[in-house]
Amino acid sequence: MEETRLVLLGPPACGKGTQGRRLAKEYGLGYFSTGKQLRREVEAGTALGQEADKYLSRTEYVPDQLVLAIVSDWVSKQGGGWILDGFPRTVMQAEELDRFPSESIRSLRALLIDVDREVLAQRVSQRCECGYCSWTGTSDDVKETASCPSCGGALIRRRDDEPEAFRKRMDIYEELTLPVIEHYSSSGGLLRISGIGTQGEVSKRVKDALQSHG
Ligand code: AMP
Repeated sequence: MEETRLVLLGPPACGKGTQGRRLAKEYGLGYFSTGKQLRREVEAGTALGQEADKYLSRTEYVPDQLVLAIVSDWVSKQGGGWILDGFPRTVMQAEELDRFPSESIRSLRALLIDVDREVLAQRVSQRCECGYCSWTGTSDDVKETASCPSCGGALIRRRDDEPEAFRKRMDIYEELTLPVIEHYSSSGGLLRISGIGTQGEVSKRVKDALQSHG
């Protein structure tokens, strides 16, 4: 597992972030979420963040070249295995990733976390995340405290989780990211699991899928 190089695929709120962070912690892997990094750049007001915000504020994918720049920079700094959450999201990004130096993408696999659109809409309507440690959950998980159960930080709601923005993200996902699943499926590198159930149940499926495919 230490040498795992994994891209996590799946629709918004399927559990990529939660499962990616869990797996990375358990196996000592690097973890990088392009969405999280873009939001950080926006908050910090960097040139890249200002450019990215033009697209994020319209709930659109940011241009391939912009995401590729931050991903290739991050991957080039990794010494061991890693997990990418939210990349690649277009066929062009997947093809560019295939062209990364072979030692940095050795035994690359893609894992799709499958969840129906209706379940996702319900999840997103309750989703909240910690502005400090990136914990993500639903309002049910924090009924008692109203603050992050992991670090006590303030919880926020993502602007792109509002119903209209969510519908748009799903439409873009179906148009631009479903073909990425086909990209990995046709090359035989795709693992697929159901994302329905508790975080622990899904986590077990993730590990079983990775272990049974060497
Ligand atoms: P996420 O946190 O993964 O849901 O990503 C939030 C938003 O960041 C997405 O809806 C996109 O607008 C943008 N984004 C994240 N990753 C990518 C990517 N690989 N390509 C294009 N846009 C991305």
